[in-house]
Amino acid sequence: MTFGRAPRDLALRGSAPNVALILSFFVGHWLLSVFFQTFFLHRYSAHRMFTMSKGWERFFYLCTFVFQGASFLQPRAYAILHREHHAYSDTEKDPHSPHHARNFLDMMWKTALLYGALVRRQREPEARFEGGYPQWKLLDDLGESWLVRFAFAVAYTLVYLKFAPHWGWFVLLPAHYLMGPIHGAIVNWGGHMIGYRNFELDDESRNTLPLDFLTLGELFQNNHHRYGQAVKFSVRAFEFDPTYAMIRLFAALGVLKLAKAQVARYVPEAAPTAAE
Ligand SMILES: [Zn+2]
Ligand SMILES: [Zn+2]
Repeated sequence: MTFGRAPRDLALRGSAPNVALILSFFVGHWLLSVFFQTFFLHRYSAHRMFTMSKGWERFFYLCTFVFQGASFLQPRAYAILHREHHAYSDTEKDPHSPHHARNFLDMMWKTALLYGALVRRQREPEARFEGGYPQWKLLDDLGESWLVRFAFAVAYTLVYLKFAPHWGWFVLLPAHYLMGPIHGAIVNWGGHMIGYRNFELDDESRNTLPLDFLTLGELFQNNHHRYGQAVKFSVRAFEFDPTYAMIRLFAALGVLKLAKAQVARYVPEAAPTAAE
């Protein structure tokens, strides 16, 4: 912070390396958090698009816990909520449709209530949405603990206190505290409100960004709702799904196993002009 500092100190704190450090911290946290959301919570826990050993599953579970940090989302509750979304997309029973919410924050709040009720086992989901997701009680309990969430929030704040060149950078801190739900809300709002459609479906799903580096492939909602079990979310030549590239790399390294059919479904017969 700049208040009350000696000029020499100000110069140090305002230096380019500090700006680069804060920006790297923000972008790094953003990308790692959204990567483990789409890779582990969405494609693995909710959809079982690939398989891996128990050891790798624990490793990625731990990564999700560490990198989502203050806003860690439990695989079980995430998976059930997401399966409900696919089954009831953009209807009254969709847990997070922007077409059944007053605004962005209202949708986020409703999602949080439904998610929390699943975590606390106060809501009984339909039996078909249960099962097939990884569970690790210790991490789930730690992630849900307010003490742990608070400790992560303090850690993010300390990074800004130490390195932020100016107090104005502190406006980024709430995004660190709520990273997981913010990503979810961007995908659920943008992916069902803004963008183009490759497939005419019963819901309002959209592809928001042809090059989805912001949410690492999650914003190809229209493609994903058309082919719910396909691990690759992009379908057209100009679309790029970065997480799929990582998954192919992991598969090549033997970290996980992909079902061939799930990859092949898109090419070339599933191209938008030919498929619908
Ligand atoms: Zn969707
Ligand atoms: Zn999905």
